[in-house]
Amino acid sequence: MIVPEELQIVEYPHPALRYKSRPVTRIDTNLRKIVERMFDLMYEHKGVGLAANQVGLPYRLFIINPSGEKGDKEWELVLINPEITSRKGTVEGEEGCLSVPEVYGDVARSEEIVVDAFDLKGQGFELTLKDFPARVVQHEYDHIEGIMFFDKLTEASKREVLPQVEQFVNYYRSGQEKGEIPSDTEVQKQLKEIEP
Ligand code: ZN
Repeated sequence: MIVPEELQIVEYPHPALRYKSRPVTRIDTNLRKIVERMFDLMYEHKGVGLAANQVGLPYRLFIINPSGEKGDKEWELVLINPEITSRKGTVEGEEGCLSVPEVYGDVARSEEIVVDAFDLKGQGFELTLKDFPARVVQHEYDHIEGIMFFDKLTEASKREVLPQVEQFVNYYRSGQEKGEIPSDTEVQKQLKEIEP
């Protein structure tokens, strides 16, 4: 059983961030509490989106609020089992990620997308998004596929950003060597066990 209050944002290279998440099969009280906790964490860390695997859960689910304003009902959205069904145009823009704090780089994304998903009531919905909200959804969608934004950096951004990512890896691996952070095998086993 997952205790929503205990969830925390995991940092790269935590194995959950490279895990291909599994579809959500049940929307229940526990899942609603998990989502509530995710919103709290997202606002606490001043983010505009958060995927379930960023809190160590291998679920195809993410939350967004491109306005960044807590309680903005227009933009506070939960996307369960999302699918991006259409993409148009390409635009480059800067991105960051709560799982690699303070690291920012440019990524090319589709300018306009259509995304289908389910909400917390189990109702299906479709959104057509442009510009920044479209970017946020594409970034979060990549998370549930195990893809990080720095996998897709523009050539110009790579030189600057990848060494910063490397520092996160070094820090994490030395924590594992000291036994302060669980091994990847151990975490992967846990992730498998909590798949929906
Ligand atoms: Zn991210």
